[in-house]
Amino acid sequence: MLSLRLPRSKSFDALEKISRERIMILDGAMGTQIQQLGLSEDDFLGHAGCACHIHTDHPQKGNNDLLILTQPQAIEEIHFRYAMAGADIVETNTFSSTVIAQADYAMEDKVFELNRQGAALARAAMDRATAQDGKPRFVAGAVGPTNRTASISPDVNNPGFRAITFDELREAYGLQIRALIAGGADIILIETIFDTLNAKAAIFAASEAFSEHGAALPLMISGTITDASGRTLSGQTPTAFWYSVAHARPFTVGLNCALGAHAMRPHLAELASVADTRICAYPNAGLPNAFGQYDEGPEDTAAEIAGFARDGLVNVVGGCCGTTPDHIRAIAEAVAPFAPRKF
Ligand SMILES: [Zn+2]
Repeated sequence: MLSLRLPRSKSFDALEKISRERIMILDGAMGTQIQQLGLSEDDFLGHAGCACHIHTDHPQKGNNDLLILTQPQAIEEIHFRYAMAGADIVETNTFSSTVIAQADYAMEDKVFELNRQGAALARAAMDRATAQDGKPRFVAGAVGPTNRTASISPDVNNPGFRAITFDELREAYGLQIRALIAGGADIILIETIFDTLNAKAAIFAASEAFSEHGAALPLMISGTITDASGRTLSGQTPTAFWYSVAHARPFTVGLNCALGAHAMRPHLAELASVADTRICAYPNAGLPNAFGQYDEGPEDTAAEIAGFARDGLVNVVGGCCGTTPDHIRAIAEAVAPFAPRKF
């Protein structure tokens, strides 16, 4: 990887130091918190007369990333609450801020601003939290999988068809990552990986962006297990997934989403048995109920994750879908007595 020859960013050393001393805490779900705001289409567009107002005929309700530009105070406040609940690292609200994912909302031309502002908002919230308690905090620029897959055909009648190419992904991720760095991201977090080829394009784009930037940021790489056989959508076991991304020498590798902590455990244990880097786990708050909602309470999620920590499986923990600041507070308390995993 190109960036191996680069000097490391300032936060890199600080993160390494803290991660040797204790298990670090990542934040919880952004979507769950946004849902609770009950925002209307008008709210998503921003207030009329405000410079942040978006002019479009395309419906924007559900484009959560757009709230970075149209409801910045609400997003900053969510980051702040997670920080005060105990998160050392918060993720930017940029999961879908690529030209590929934003094409669904005809917002491709906002992508650079979404990522730059998304990182700046998270940074402002972290600085506000640090001013209160003196704890250092880090911003992870969140890079999602996009809604296309490079290694699987979406058309069962045409298995050779691909809806996206490696280079299209590389360029889209490159724009996103450069903007996240411009906004002050400390980490690049490639997450919810269901197709490892998409993740490889993101890793390549990150290495190019780091070269341009003149310093390597820490990379966090997080896959998602999508079926009961314990494989990603592109068919890999946790072991195969690790060997596919190990060349990037990530700060962490891990799993998030799709499963609750209980169901994630065996796959996490497999990953921890092969990966010679830090392990990061941020499961959902259990499995969704019939209405697609998550019922697992903070104490239950925290008890499962404390089990990961007790057994020496993890270095960074947090929450994915359905988790709240209360979950993060409970998780932070539950893992505090345990040492980080040695690798
Ligand atoms: Zn999730």
